Amino acid sequence: MIIIMEPSATQGQIQTVVNALHNKGFKTVLNKGDVMTVIAAIGDKRIIDPHSFQSYDGVRSVKLIQEPYKLASREGRQEDTVIEFSNGVRIGGLEKPVIIAGPCCVEQDLDGLLRVAEAVKEMGCNFLRGGAFKPRTSPYDFQGLEEKALEYLAIAREKTGLLIVTELMDTLDLDMVCQYADVIQIGARNMQNFKLLKAVGKCDKPVILKRGPAATIREFLLAAEHIMYNGNDKVILCERGIKGVDNNSTRNTLDISAIPVIKKYSHLPIIVDPSHGTGRRYLIEPMAKAGLIVGAHGVMMEVHHDPENASSDGAQSLSIPMFKDVAKRLNKLIGRIDYDNKHSMSMV
Ligand code: PEP
Ligand code: MN
Repeated sequence: MIIIMEPSATQGQIQTVVNALHNKGFKTVLNKGDVMTVIAAIGDKRIIDPHSFQSYDGVRSVKLIQEPYKLASREGRQEDTVIEFSNGVRIGGLEKPVIIAGPCCVEQDLDGLLRVAEAVKEMGCNFLRGGAFKPRTSPYDFQGLEEKALEYLAIAREKTGLLIVTELMDTLDLDMVCQYADVIQIGARNMQNFKLLKAVGKCDKPVILKRGPAATIREFLLAAEHIMYNGNDKVILCERGIKGVDNNSTRNTLDISAIPVIKKYSHLPIIVDPSHGTGRRYLIEPMAKAGLIVGAHGVMMEVHHDPENASSDGAQSLSIPMFKDVAKRLNKLIGRIDYDNKHSMSMV
């Protein structure tokens, strides 16, 4: 930790900070410049709140050298985390990127869901997504079929062998969702719902954690840290777009650079969601490709049997024929990616 003193800081103020650091077991190195003094503090900053030093008189700023997330960080673990599923599919590291596809939410029409699931399976994908509990901006919008949707997803798994990804919104539903889901999704709006993070931290299902719409990468990794700290290290991060300046052209701004940045700072798998990232069907394919090229471990996209009449997110959902075309091209791209390059993929 580095503490930068104000140019006007007195000798007494500098000494007070140094003494406080020594009392907390830190060693200090003073760098007295012409204009200001910088104090380098060496020690275990987990035992203090580093920002408490901000409140000392004469302190201009406090900077951390180590990242505050430990378990999610590459500093703590060099090798990539690879998550293995019951059917042998693996996500992370140099494994072949996966495709997760399905409707935004599961609707009354079971047959429609099964048609999507069959297409997902036919295209060689391994995961079916579908919301049972929906985080909707408006209370007047469709809120999800809850357990009935989970039952439909279980039927789809039974028929296709696909693994089920579904969102958990409330700790009260954890046991029920765990009964049906192979992967629990924590949605963007709940990225910092710490009780929810703690609850999924205590269960043994892999978790897809979506980036909050206004979250920094540090906040995102600290949210993952909460899950890991509570005992679950099977965390898959998902970049799904952040609030941008132009929500006429796109729903969110898909932060493609977050993918290699996260791969630099964390060993956790990171996937990309171009459906929520853009809100536009025609942008799913180009942005999925962009995500894969910069090293995403997978793509999550929305597919609906009748997008024009979908209960949610129809505009960012592919129809079944479109999905087949897009998946064919993504599979081709995945087949050409050079897996030797860790942080960003190159073509062979
Ligand atoms: C979803 O995946 O359907 C969803 C609601 O996503 P997000 O939390 O990223 O908005
Ligand atoms: Mn959606």
